[in-house]
Amino acid sequence: MVQHRWYHREIMKNSIAVLLGLVLLMAFPVSAATPFDGKLIALDAGHGNGETGAIGDCNGVTVVEAELNLAVRAELEKLLPEGTYYEVAQLGSRQDRVANAEAAGSSVLISIHHNGSTNTSADYTQSFVTQKNDKIFASYIHPSLVQALGLPDKGIKNDGYGMTVYGALPGVLTESYFVTDTDGACDFIDYQNGVTNTRVHKEAQAMYDGLYAYFSANVGGGGKGRR
Ligand SMILES: [Zn+2]
Repeated sequence: MVQHRWYHREIMKNSIAVLLGLVLLMAFPVSAATPFDGKLIALDAGHGNGETGAIGDCNGVTVVEAELNLAVRAELEKLLPEGTYYEVAQLGSRQDRVANAEAAGSSVLISIHHNGSTNTSADYTQSFVTQKNDKIFASYIHPSLVQALGLPDKGIKNDGYGMTVYGALPGVLTESYFVTDTDGACDFIDYQNGVTNTRVHKEAQAMYDGLYAYFSANVGGGGKGRR
């Protein structure tokens, strides 16, 4: 009889433990690990702060590079896990923007730009880097953009300008396509009108894919504040 009561009590205790476990699982779902865990991606939308960047035209409708840069960033943020990106303040100087990204403890930096030309049919994909760790980072981001957009590939330029000159964190400045190209400008109008699978969507997805591959390869870009 004593034995039986003990047995009964054990079953009760086990049942309560299982039930408690289920309740905890429901309250705090265990999310799968991703390559973005512990990373902070600084996203700089080029220009802003009173600066338009390049100006495009779609059948008389003006398209502003700064707005396109913001749209690509917004789409990329929808894809990235919460808490893994940092919006760089749209400060006046590029040096200040990099300092802002570094102060936030960013692992890497993408400065999102779109190219401009007086030739309304000029269109290609190009990226800019300065330091060795930029080149490694760009070797994941740039090819992903080229593949997604299907435009002529003008490669990764060691140009020494823009957002990759200052600071030490791996960074790339992307000029994914030309906002002054008529197709590029009209694509942004389509995007604003709710069309899906536009260049804006493809570019954001390509950046996400490149970031995923970069962090998966574990070739740099350490945790927050460590790089
Ligand atoms: Zn620009």
